[in-house]
Amino acid sequence: MSANLPFIDLASQRDRIRPQIDTAIARVVDHGAFIMGPEVGRFEEELSAFAGAKHTVSCSNGTDALTLVLMAWEIGPGDAVFCPSFTFAATAEVVAFLGATPVFVDIHADTFNMDPASLRTAIDEVKATGELRPRAVIAVDLFGQMADYAAVRALCDEHRLSLISDAAQGFGATLDGQRANVFADAVTTSFFPAKPLGCYGDGGAIQTQDDDLAATLRSLRVHGAGTDRYDNVRIGMTGRLDTIQAAVLIEKLAIFEDEIAARGRIAERYNALLADVADVPVLAGGAVSTWAQYTLKLPVGARPAFQSALGKAGVPTAIYYPKPLHRQTAYQAFPVAGNGLPASDGVADQVISLPMHPYLSEADQDRIVAAAREALDADALAAAS
Ligand SMILES: *Cc1c(COP(=O)(O)O)cnc(C)c1O
Repeated sequence: MSANLPFIDLASQRDRIRPQIDTAIARVVDHGAFIMGPEVGRFEEELSAFAGAKHTVSCSNGTDALTLVLMAWEIGPGDAVFCPSFTFAATAEVVAFLGATPVFVDIHADTFNMDPASLRTAIDEVKATGELRPRAVIAVDLFGQMADYAAVRALCDEHRLSLISDAAQGFGATLDGQRANVFADAVTTSFFPAKPLGCYGDGGAIQTQDDDLAATLRSLRVHGAGTDRYDNVRIGMTGRLDTIQAAVLIEKLAIFEDEIAARGRIAERYNALLADVADVPVLAGGAVSTWAQYTLKLPVGARPAFQSALGKAGVPTAIYYPKPLHRQTAYQAFPVAGNGLPASDGVADQVISLPMHPYLSEADQDRIVAAAREALDADALAAAS
């Protein structure tokens, strides 16, 4: 029996760029500017160039990236922020953290991304109730695929709402060749090590075309600093990206396009080898995903046996997400669109993610596919008997 496979293999990437990383970290240790050193500004420029964004404001993590934007817009008690429930907790957590109200919106069961029809329902309901001021939408590029920004933006324009793209999983993705910053007022991302573009610790960034927003964000990430160093002009936070992480990210960004392409090839191969036995992920036409996760949908009830069969074959799997946020203890009192979120509830019982990273060899892909096919066949047999 061969060894267990990793779910995400960060070691292969490290080995590929080891000399560059070692040199970059040593350079920071030598110059000693650990906070806001020269690599931070250089990385921000390179990330702006990568995405065609006017401004990049790097920061401490992907959660603070969201928080900083909401703070810049002075969102707080009495404000409604619309977001999906089928996402990582941070998307809604930041809203509640600032005293505002997350209003949960359903997703499309095929793309796992925000359903504009459900968003429209949620906005109408908040307006009809009259208790909260609708302020902003946070759309999530779940598993690496961009949300339906054309439709979401149109609703935001119609109702004068600001739009954040939570691109922690989908930074680097495109839709018809366009990036999220074409549609969103702010794009936020995370450099948590397991994200498609990760660093060696915590990190994050915000991109925007808006000069005033960028200036406010730069102030907020250092305690609300003004032009006079000893006159803070607003309440902010310690939200900077470490220089060492910026130095690491410069080296990782250099190979990022190549890695996105590799992820795309692996996802296509998985699709080709699994489509006849499982519900494989669906991309909207014109979408390039960063494949933060490769997620299958299984018949309800089939997942536990599938997961344990793959585990026995040394193939790790993960469930993103077993419980949508509106079902979780801390979030269940917040409003949901319409009469509930049937698509979010439905996929939560079906999803399972297979190993996905740019360095997955064809041999390992074949091993994963064989284990998955065997588990699904056994399942089908059990169901038929
Ligand atoms: C990872 C993630 C975040 C938070 O990023 P951190 O850097 O861990 O704070 C926010 N939103 C989504 C969708 C994520 O996947």
